[in-house]
Amino acid sequence: MSFDSLGLRADLLRALVTQRYGRPTPIQFQAIPVILAGHDLLAGAQTGTGKTAAFVLPLLQLLAEKGHSQRHPRALILTPTRELAAQIGERIHAYGIHLSLRSTVIFGGVGMQPQVNQLRRGVDILVATPGRLLDHVGQRTLDLSRIEILVLDEADRMLDMGFIHDVRRIINLLPERRQNLLFSATYSDDMRRFSESLLQRPKLIEVARRNTAAETVIQTAYPVDKARKRDLLAHLFHREDWQQVLVFTRTKAGANRLAEHLGREGIAATAIHGNKSQTARTRALDEFKRGAVRALVATDIAARGLDIAQLPQVVNFELPNVAEDYVHRIGRTGRAGAGGRALSLVSHDEMGLLKGIQRLLGRQITLHPVAGFEPSLTPPANNSEPSERRRGGLVGVTAAPRRTAPNSRTGQGLRRDGQRSRTVPPRKPT
Ligand code: AMP
Repeated sequence: MSFDSLGLRADLLRALVTQRYGRPTPIQFQAIPVILAGHDLLAGAQTGTGKTAAFVLPLLQLLAEKGHSQRHPRALILTPTRELAAQIGERIHAYGIHLSLRSTVIFGGVGMQPQVNQLRRGVDILVATPGRLLDHVGQRTLDLSRIEILVLDEADRMLDMGFIHDVRRIINLLPERRQNLLFSATYSDDMRRFSESLLQRPKLIEVARRNTAAETVIQTAYPVDKARKRDLLAHLFHREDWQQVLVFTRTKAGANRLAEHLGREGIAATAIHGNKSQTARTRALDEFKRGAVRALVATDIAARGLDIAQLPQVVNFELPNVAEDYVHRIGRTGRAGAGGRALSLVSHDEMGLLKGIQRLLGRQITLHPVAGFEPSLTPPANNSEPSERRRGGLVGVTAAPRRTAPNSRTGQGLRRDGQRSRTVPPRKPT
């Protein structure tokens, strides 16, 4: 199956040759014709599946076909994070290189005025985070009354991050007649209600969850005492000669402390999180991509949507509180079919979290102690779950393999928070 057969224009196909995209990914193969035909779309797809091109390519084509004479934007792409907005902006530029459509990216944390100037010059496609977009609307520097296509990318994350009211306010500013495309990795009851209120007779597309695609990712876990994690991590950097590793921590302060510790151990590292200015975040990402730093230490939200091609290694310095975030984290590696490795450092108090992750994945992640870093047999007081304490430590303890069990009430797979455990489900016929 090739891109030629999807109905894309020659000038877009030429751009794809430059990008060296040989074949469409499953989401592209399914979504492009649907969007070109003008349908609303509800797509279950995570970062790493090629979802950006799946909506950007047909969107460019639809706009190019209708000309580009207007001053006001005709397509609006909303994203939860600045990084994701910037990356979509880059992609629009790359895919639309042979078209004369104008696009711009708008997000907070940087000055308003350059964005105002850009909007004044006129744009066809606007990529934005919700808060800053509303700032512009409030200042009357933006007119959304000509929007023909609305894309909500990572809609689940937008809801999780509390953007629902902002998004609804934005939707109320749009013309009634428009095409709506909603991309979401997960599908909760909130998301169902939201999508039903937004989409008109949508086509449904679901591609493999990242955790099934993530079978190309080798997942390992090392049991270790909490206090020794940072030394173990530094040891692994030296032993494995890692050159580019994305490391996840749970907190911003923890990310800073760990980056500093690695620096003291001679491992160039930088932290990326929401307390850093946009300029600092962009610089950190650039340094990491260039190979100037070996470790990028990130919190979940900061890392969301980061596109670092072929990242070989991800480390969970701490396990996430929500099992679904583990899937997002390891989705940073092993992209586009490339193999990758995900390693978790698991302390006594995280055994419950590890079990939740195994339950979600429907598979076991075996714990292998590292020589010299074996966890103490008696966990520190108040530092483990009672069940683990009874068993007397971590070494050799692995959860029995379990499949993701259906929840008898909702029909959804089990999740720690009992909410979002499946992607777009079969729903009313379209
Ligand atoms: P996304 O899921 O949109 O974040 O894309 C993930 C990565 O896959 C990005 O680095 C894209 O450049 C790359 N990609 C997207 N589509 C293709 C394709 N058809 N062939 C090869 N790589 C692709």
